[in-house]
Amino acid sequence: MPETVTIQDVQTIITQPAGSRLIIVKLITSEPGLYGLGCATFTQRFHAVHAAIDKHLKPFLIGRDVDRIEEIWQMSMVNSYWRNGPVLNNAISGVDQALWDIKGKRAGMPVYQLLGGKCREAADTYAHAGGKDKHEVVDSVRKYQEQGYRHIRIQMGGYGGQADTLQKPEGAPDGAYYNPREYCRRMLDMIEHVRTEVGPEVELLHDIHERLRPSDAIQFGKDVEPFKLFFLEDALAPEDNEWFNHMRTQCATPIAMGELFNHPHEWTPLIQNRLIDFIRMHVSQMGGITPARNVAAFANMFNVRTAWHGPGDTSPVGHAANLHLDLWAPNFGIQEWCRFNELCYEIFPGLPEVRNGYLYPNDKPGLGIDINEELAAKYPPKDEIIQWTQTRSPDGSPMRP
Ligand code: MG
Repeated sequence: MPETVTIQDVQTIITQPAGSRLIIVKLITSEPGLYGLGCATFTQRFHAVHAAIDKHLKPFLIGRDVDRIEEIWQMSMVNSYWRNGPVLNNAISGVDQALWDIKGKRAGMPVYQLLGGKCREAADTYAHAGGKDKHEVVDSVRKYQEQGYRHIRIQMGGYGGQADTLQKPEGAPDGAYYNPREYCRRMLDMIEHVRTEVGPEVELLHDIHERLRPSDAIQFGKDVEPFKLFFLEDALAPEDNEWFNHMRTQCATPIAMGELFNHPHEWTPLIQNRLIDFIRMHVSQMGGITPARNVAAFANMFNVRTAWHGPGDTSPVGHAANLHLDLWAPNFGIQEWCRFNELCYEIFPGLPEVRNGYLYPNDKPGLGIDINEELAAKYPPKDEIIQWTQTRSPDGSPMRP
């Protein structure tokens, strides 16, 4: 019997080389030089995740067998008794992804091989086009088309759009104001304009970012039907999941949902009732590769495709994990890609690269990504009160961001 390799230390690395505070777990093993990396990035509450890892998970994990990924995941999830929240799920994800990384390194195989092997050579991605007005959006789309992207998300004026006709009441507090009804009118006009200008072949996506009331979201899903979106994202908030029943019967626009989900009760009914077309959880937010693999396989039974969340507040390690899932999953749909800066490529050697819109792995064992801790330490996380989530409707009342 080979000697059991155990967890010797659980370290948390927090760095902010771009806009987001990134949280990486580094698992040190009993085998000299063998370690794993995992993404635990919950950028808005990084201190809480750090404490969950350092004060709670670390003492629980020291000495455990690194090979027992499933058992460690199951035990970590129930050890706190209260479970399925974003802080603990992210902490568990950091450990889970690091264990998959370690298993791959021990096997001498990339993680996609451990999942079942490749269904494809690379993951098709979508990029984020945007602008202040619809003409700028068209220019932005064309720029990405020239780079080879076939799928392009189109936004105008940021999430919720720039409101031109805000009439706030006297004494209205500061905040990130927007006007949901104006948003519907302006985005519809923008999407029609872009489709007319760029033609039928490029796949267009749009993210409502849960900014609409359910009936407005359903109307919007119907109104955009003629422009043949690849998908409409987060048309509703997770709290309004039941409304997807109504949306499905009202329009044929493909629906993508799930980046805020962290509980199985959120995604299971949507998949089994075929109420959405793409499941797009934030893999660290749901607890790592282990649950993402299960959900992808479950969704495959219902012909629901994957579109894992891939913004700048998924770390490069998390993007590598996404890519391994993408390469394996028979029901892969598309991968969101946020285009990291040069510094991120220096801090995270092995960060996957996009060529002609396709994201390629490097085929190294494990997740295939490393971290330059010395360089990461030069970009410590900044504390700030987050402004963009202080979202308000025209009368000043708080809205979901
Ligand atoms: Mg989104």
